[in-house]
Amino acid sequence: MNAKITYLLSETAQRAQMAATGQPVARKQVIDADLPVTDLDVCYVHEDGACLLDCTASPNREALFASLPTGEATYGSYHFAAVPAPADIPALIRRGRALLASRKAADEDKEAIRKEAIDAAHLRAEEDAVRAFRSDPAARGQYDSQRALLAATGPVVDVSGAVPGGRAIYIRSHPDYDMISAEVRSRNADDLRVREEADARKEAAKATAISTWVTEHGTDSQRARQADGLLPRDEALTSMAELAFAAAGVPAKAEYRSCEQQSCSCGFDEIHTLSADAYAAWATVKAALPEGYAVKFYNNRECSDKDGYGDVDDAAALDHIVTANITIPFGPFRFEREIALT
Ligand SMILES: [Zn+2]
Repeated sequence: MNAKITYLLSETAQRAQMAATGQPVARKQVIDADLPVTDLDVCYVHEDGACLLDCTASPNREALFASLPTGEATYGSYHFAAVPAPADIPALIRRGRALLASRKAADEDKEAIRKEAIDAAHLRAEEDAVRAFRSDPAARGQYDSQRALLAATGPVVDVSGAVPGGRAIYIRSHPDYDMISAEVRSRNADDLRVREEADARKEAAKATAISTWVTEHGTDSQRARQADGLLPRDEALTSMAELAFAAAGVPAKAEYRSCEQQSCSCGFDEIHTLSADAYAAWATVKAALPEGYAVKFYNNRECSDKDGYGDVDDAAALDHIVTANITIPFGPFRFEREIALT
C-alpha cells in the first residue's frame, strides 16, 4: 500500500538540519512510502480516511516511544529531535506495531494461565468437598434445580462456584453429580422427617395437656365444648395461664398507658437494676415462682395522653412504672405475664 506519511521535526532538529545544509527546513515533513496494511493497526482512522499515529496517547505510548528515536512529545504530537532518514519512518512504525503485538500476546498468555489455575483449583476443591461429604454422614448440602451444593460440615464451600476457599462449592461439574445430589436430597428429606416427627410429638403432648387440664380444672361449659371438639384453644390456654399464675401468686397483668406517637416521650427501656421498693415487690413474687421461670425488668414511661396520640416532650413529667415480664413453664407450655413492681 502506498502511503503519504506526515511527521514533525522539533526546533532542535530544524536548527541542526539548517546548520548542516544552509537551507531552512519545515517543521512538517511529508514522505511517500510503501506500508503493509497491517501496520495501520496502530493508527487511529479519521472519518475522512486519514490515519493518525498518536505517539502520545495511551495505550500505544509506551511501546511506540520505545520504538522511536529521541524526540519530544507535546500536545498530542511527536517531534523528531533529529531528522530521520525518510526510509526509516515505515520501519519505525513497523517496530512499534511489533512491540504492541508482543505486549498484547504476553497479556493474553498471563490471563490464560490464571484461568487454568482457577479451574484446576476449583476441580480440586470440588473433589475435596465431595470426598468430605461422602465420608461424613452428618454433612449436609443444599439442592436446587441448578446445582447440588455441599455445605454445613463440608470443608470447602464456595457460593460463587468460581474460587475455592469460600464457604460453599457447587459440584455441577463433578462426574458423580447425579449420585451426590440424590444423596444430598435424601439426607435433607431424612432431616425434615425427623423435624416433623418431633413437632408432631410436641403438638400431641400439648393437646393431651390441654385436654387433661380442661377435664380437671375447666368449667362445665369448657368440658362440654371439649367433649364435642368445640373448645377454642386460645380460651383453654388463657384459662390455664390464669390458673398457673394464680397458683404461683403472681399479681394481675400491669396496666399502663402508651401511645402511637413516634415523637412522644412515653415508652419503655429494659433495666438491669432495681430500686429498694421495686426489689421488695419482686422478692415477694420471686419466692413463689416455679422452677424454670425467666424474667426481664422494664422502666415504663406512662403516657399522659388518654386518647392514644400524646406528644409529650418531657420524659421526667411522665409517671415511671417498673415492671417485671415473667415467663413460667407449665407442662409443654410457657406462659408470660408483665406485672407492675412500683
Ligand atoms: Zn405517649
